[in-house]
Amino acid sequence: MTVIDRYAVFGNPIKHSKSPRIHKLFSEQTEQSLVYEAQEVPAEQFSSAVKTFFADGGKGLNCTIPLKELAWAFADHKTARAHLAKAVNTLALQADGSILGDNTDGVGLITDLISNHGIKLTDRKVLILGAGGATRGIIKPLLEQSVKSIVIANRTLEKAIDLANEFVNLGNIVGCGFEGLNNQQFDLILNATSTSLTGQIPPLPANLLSEKGVCYDLAYSNEPTTFVRWGQKNNALKSLDGLGMLVEQAAEAFFIWRGVRPITEPVIKLLNDERPR
Ligand code: NDP
Repeated sequence: MTVIDRYAVFGNPIKHSKSPRIHKLFSEQTEQSLVYEAQEVPAEQFSSAVKTFFADGGKGLNCTIPLKELAWAFADHKTARAHLAKAVNTLALQADGSILGDNTDGVGLITDLISNHGIKLTDRKVLILGAGGATRGIIKPLLEQSVKSIVIANRTLEKAIDLANEFVNLGNIVGCGFEGLNNQQFDLILNATSTSLTGQIPPLPANLLSEKGVCYDLAYSNEPTTFVRWGQKNNALKSLDGLGMLVEQAAEAFFIWRGVRPITEPVIKLLNDERPR
């Protein structure tokens, strides 16, 4: 009997996730035989759910909101980028039975910004809203693109300051609260808060976006998110959501698990075409 390799995404909430669809498209494109499911897992059940998944023969997991820091703590060993981020979105069963933790969010975002949307990052002033698991994964990859500076603004001020301090040796980065954004301007504003999930937006001052500035919501939705609409209202050159990042980070996870790199462009196009107009 042939046993099909099993993969899954754990998160809470998870109903909206497009990851199962994306991995199905990848597996068809690359002719890899596998199944990939979404499972709602509250944080307090994370450890037991992961143990059960791998004990039952699972090969790899994605972990999303709010589980990335827990996945980091769970992994037996981690890649350098995951180690630094202290957040893991990909768990992979190794040949010796151990679990490797990786973080593919950063490479997913950078590939989407640069390769898919032609956005220049060198010398840009970047604002990241939010200081959670997603922000942890994207700071170093952004600094590696020689951005001029990064400001992290968060509802809980201490988290923004602590996070910026963790990366201060790698570049020009500071943390603040939303009120600390008054009289500042940025070339790229990334929304890495989870506010889009509830149709909210952090309190942002006027004139925050520079002329020809770009807005990017890491969240994605069939309708333009509240932050994408904020970008449009504030004359962003481009105001994008995170669908492309989602596909790119998934492609990197697929490569880690299967050793085969899917072509992302047709998958992004298909998912975009399916959005209501
Ligand atoms: P976390 O739960 O780790 O962090 C959530 C962040 O949102 C915290 O900084 C939190 O602030 C902030 N926040 C929550 N509610 C509010 C509010 N009402 N007002 C202001 N700030 C708020 O989530 P993640 O970092 O894992 O994910 C963040 C977002 O990024 C999600 O929407 C997720 O879907 C998206 N994402 C998309 C990816 C993609 O591939 N496109 C990949 C990764 C993430 P505080 O610290 O004060 O609680």
